[in-house]
Amino acid sequence: MPLQKNQIIPLAIDSLSSDGSGVGRWQGEAVFVPGAVPGDRLQVRIVKSCKRYAFGRIEQADERGPAYLAPDCPVFAPCGGCCFRHLRYADELAAKQGFVADAFRRLGGLELPVRPILPSPQTDRYRNKVQLPVQAGLDGRPRVGFYAGRSHRLVPCEDCLLQPQLLSQIAAAACAQMARLGISAYDEASHTGLVRHLLLRQGAHSGQVLLCLVVNGRSLPRAEEFCEAMQRRFPAIRSIQLNLNTARTNVILGPECVLLTGQPQIEDEMCGVPVALGPLSFYQVNTPAAEQLYEAARVAAALGPGESLLDLYCGMGTIGLAITGPDQPLVGVEVIGEAVGAARRSAAKMGRDNARFLCADAGQAAALLAKEGLRPKVVVLDPPRKGCEEQTLAAVAAMSPERVVMISCNPATAARDVRWLAGQGYRAEYVQPADLFPRTRHVEAIVRLQKDHL
Ligand code: SAH
Repeated sequence: MPLQKNQIIPLAIDSLSSDGSGVGRWQGEAVFVPGAVPGDRLQVRIVKSCKRYAFGRIEQADERGPAYLAPDCPVFAPCGGCCFRHLRYADELAAKQGFVADAFRRLGGLELPVRPILPSPQTDRYRNKVQLPVQAGLDGRPRVGFYAGRSHRLVPCEDCLLQPQLLSQIAAAACAQMARLGISAYDEASHTGLVRHLLLRQGAHSGQVLLCLVVNGRSLPRAEEFCEAMQRRFPAIRSIQLNLNTARTNVILGPECVLLTGQPQIEDEMCGVPVALGPLSFYQVNTPAAEQLYEAARVAAALGPGESLLDLYCGMGTIGLAITGPDQPLVGVEVIGEAVGAARRSAAKMGRDNARFLCADAGQAAALLAKEGLRPKVVVLDPPRKGCEEQTLAAVAAMSPERVVMISCNPATAARDVRWLAGQGYRAEYVQPADLFPRTRHVEAIVRLQKDHL
């Protein structure tokens, strides 16, 4: 008989799923339990039962496995942003190593060496960007927190351990100023009230902070007083902006920003590449770990003197600019115009007149560049989670580069794409996993593919 909702069963956990849940078996059926680790012996309440698997919640822990760590965050369970706060970091790394190896073996059908995962230099407070929903508490005062998983119920949280303490302090002070100045929090149900989210960024190297209030409106009442109070208390704040989002939508940011005070962008750098960051820029959130990733990409690309690079899905151009030198021609392709502008400005600041950036779809641009006769020595691919389109991979193969360096935040689609390239004569030499998002389920991987000369 299948498991019933609310049934309580004894369960021994023997593995971790790739979303960070512990997995045990009950009469052949897999039961997924968030917050559980291998070796746990638990009483589990079934919360959802499907045909061949079920989801449970820990009712009581009779015994904990050796990798268990008491979570150090009071909202670990309801928040759901972290899924590995109850596991020793070494075991989290081992699990992520396993997810990557598994994806390539099972989904890609590829046997290739998986190098030891690169740990993140910091496991807490590593995020350089945070987006915090704002809601009025019962006392009517605005407060920040996180939405509980798959809902818009606010779990109040003043100090998330993934974000710099300074950003927590700034968010709390912003809420206090809103209360003092009568600036209201947004209410989703009635689509009234003003401030929907706070977006904060801090340059990991520069320390500069950008504060952006996402508002259901076009202006902020008593904006001068707000800015003055915030800047007086936090000199690191270099930019205060509004992002206008008056739509009834789940999408956090609207397209338009209005500068209230300071610079439109803060400055930072990544592997020595100068970058300017606005509220809408895409930027790797864990700077020191991303710098390690870029270094691994540089090693994988192994560009010689004068050899050229094509960087597809280049964002603000940071990878390409970091791993090529002044004598190595670079072409970057990215679909978001703002990011392309930022890449061009970084290149100009570095005096890189051999670097050019195109605003286009990666596949279309690659096909065009191939037709024009571009023959880069190495192609870097860093697609979003859904991976590359076949047209893009075909255009890359048509350019016949010596090496392809695939960087991916989704091992499953990377395995699929690497397999496709293998069919075009590109041998995957190794996978290098890297942990850019400690405590969360996400893992990054670099694959080096070498053209077979048969
Ligand atoms: N390489 C960059 C960004 C990687 S994220 C870095 O390391 O920071 C993936 C990027 O691909 C995003 O900037 C996204 O805007 C871009 N992108 C998504 N779909 C695209 C497409 N079809 N063509 C070109 N770029 C695309």
